[in-house]
Amino acid sequence: KTAFVNGEFLPLENARVSVLDRGFLFSDSVYEVVPFYAGRGFRLNAHLERLERSLALLRIVNPYERTRWHEIIAELIEANGGGDLALYIQVTRGAPERRDHRIPEDIEPTVVAFCQSRAPVDPAVLEQGIAAITHEDTRWRYCTIKSTSLLANVLAADDARSRGASEALMVRDGAVQEGTSSNVFAVIDRRLVTPALRDTILPGITRAAVLELAERDVIDHAEIETLSPAALRSASEIWVTSSIREIFPVTTLDGETVGTGKPGPVWTRMQTALQAMAHD
Ligand code: PLP
Repeated sequence: KTAFVNGEFLPLENARVSVLDRGFLFSDSVYEVVPFYAGRGFRLNAHLERLERSLALLRIVNPYERTRWHEIIAELIEANGGGDLALYIQVTRGAPERRDHRIPEDIEPTVVAFCQSRAPVDPAVLEQGIAAITHEDTRWRYCTIKSTSLLANVLAADDARSRGASEALMVRDGAVQEGTSSNVFAVIDRRLVTPALRDTILPGITRAAVLELAERDVIDHAEIETLSPAALRSASEIWVTSSIREIFPVTTLDGETVGTGKPGPVWTRMQTALQAMAHD
């Protein structure tokens, strides 16, 4: 497996960054995960745009022009054999000479990228759906920044696991925001809804694709201000979306059955449409 570190391609097991790197010391860094289907990136430009936005919001200098990003990524995908991969990119503020909270001037960002295999989705998930829990949203407020400060997400995902579930849905001010690593959709009264974007929701690339498909296929849909946990409990379908999961149907919420307890008809339609779009 080949990784990319600061301009160099090298075996992943030899890839290293400094212990003084601010990504390591302060989570002072941002990331992206891009799915590749048969060697082709799904919405790669949207991911690079989001990376640029995350960097700008943290006042980290974007190390490369868009065309250079494309070259690096193409070379890395090729070096890793193409196929179905998940590309991980991380840009940190860099490694200064001393540990200090204050952002140093003239610091060069650290860039790391590598690939992981993107195994096909477990058929059991698509047949049975997954379990999710609701969870207090203990994250900070700038969740539109795809930063590597993910402790609240990691702990909530672990709480889900310890309750036999595979995703935790973050509830803040009486409203469901998103999952620990996914956006959330629900079918309520025959309408597909998702929380409208705000500070506490990552603008998911898969979320945007699902909304486009709903528009194209004339599925009644809306981005809503408040998705209350009670409304979610009344949903006939719940889904979580992400670049890695695509669209997972949620068939158990806090131990209660969602809808019929099976992935629903709107999900089936959307899942087919998204597969076609990704493999197009
Ligand atoms: N929300 C959070 C907090 C995430 O970490 C992710 C992705 O991992 C998503 C939403 C989904 O975003 P995307 O569809 O761009 O992968």
